[in-house]
Amino acid sequence: MYKQSTMHKNQEAVDELGRRAYDIAQEIYPFCRSLTGEGVRQTLKALQRHIPLAIHEVPSGTTAYDWTVPLEWNVRDAYIKDAQGRRVIDFQRCNLHLVGYSVPFKGTLKREELLKHVHVHPTVPDAVPYRHSYYQDSWGFCATHRQREELLDEQYEVCVDTSLVPGHLTYGEVIVPGRTDAVMLVWTHTCHPSLANDNASGIGVAAVLAACLGAKSRHLTYRIVFGPATLGPLVWLSANEAVVPRIQHGIVLACAGDLGSMTYVRSRRGNAPVDRAMAHCLKQAGRPYVIRDFAPEGYDQRQFCSPGFDLAMGCVMRTPYGEYAQYHTSADDMTFITPAGLGDTMVTLLDVCDTLDNDRTYVNTNPYGEPHLGKRGLYQDAASLGMGWTLNYSDGRHSLLDIAERANMPFAAIAVGAERLRMSGLLREITRNN
Ligand code: ZN
Repeated sequence: MYKQSTMHKNQEAVDELGRRAYDIAQEIYPFCRSLTGEGVRQTLKALQRHIPLAIHEVPSGTTAYDWTVPLEWNVRDAYIKDAQGRRVIDFQRCNLHLVGYSVPFKGTLKREELLKHVHVHPTVPDAVPYRHSYYQDSWGFCATHRQREELLDEQYEVCVDTSLVPGHLTYGEVIVPGRTDAVMLVWTHTCHPSLANDNASGIGVAAVLAACLGAKSRHLTYRIVFGPATLGPLVWLSANEAVVPRIQHGIVLACAGDLGSMTYVRSRRGNAPVDRAMAHCLKQAGRPYVIRDFAPEGYDQRQFCSPGFDLAMGCVMRTPYGEYAQYHTSADDMTFITPAGLGDTMVTLLDVCDTLDNDRTYVNTNPYGEPHLGKRGLYQDAASLGMGWTLNYSDGRHSLLDIAERANMPFAAIAVGAERLRMSGLLREITRNN
């Protein structure tokens, strides 16, 4: 009964949340994001219209552990023109056509020379691949197989009107203050140009998540950070070393909007509360899902779970990167992600945040036999809210999450039951689990 009504209520919420995330993803999808530059600023400024986001600018040359913030990269224009002066490959039409971080170049090239700079996708002929050349002194274009094959003129005019000058790396952060300073960190990357699932979807979902978390009083303090992959976490960690010991839980969010089932990659610790909460919520939701062990690959858990930090951060995706044909190509567009997929990711994340936020340990104040629930008006809902489980296992050694796992019931039901038992004096809180 409890479950049915929750499912019905959730279904409406799923559609509404997914639509909000989709609208934000669509708004920021066209911008030419990269490791640095105006596209990232445009994206973060767009988010500021939805959430109270602080934008941080970190100067080129700033070091973060073994890394250094590079020169800022911006694009004014980029194209290849044929002998008739037609732009046969044009950055203005699709920003994936230019290899990210291409150095400036202007000139006329013979066909054979030009083709060395025109990359195609090895297996998806009709799509423009996504490439970048961070930390290399080179330029290039990306094209479909057909576009490359049609480059038959003797020579072409090439324009890569970019700038690489001292500037900034830009990231954004929303802090949703809780009653304690224990932190849950949510990280999503912002460095991909017009690609929808990787990564406009993560940006949309993280923004709506920040808005939802701020809508009610919370135990944990949430930090939702939007920054470039790899270097971004290192810059953030080095600027927030005082916060790091307070990070109790974390999620790296990516590929959040396709219609594949949810994938969770455990933290390096493997059995941290976030790993257990995620496994519990996915199981109780009753939809297909996959859980994988940590590996030093994939998204920014590579940095957060490096041995010096070893933070309790897992990675939430739907279909994992590299396991869908559209990955890192122009086919990863706004038709590949849906409000339904985004909404499902949103609901899962909110469920996990609520679980971690509300987990606590009680003791049963009446442990000799079962307390008489009928005379306290609790009998009616006792079974559906798992009160027998909560009373029995509230011995000071089992938290509500332990009990929900043991009872194989949704954490939310156990928590509602526990609150009613507490109100009637049958439970006393001893610790918060954060
Ligand atoms: Zn990517």
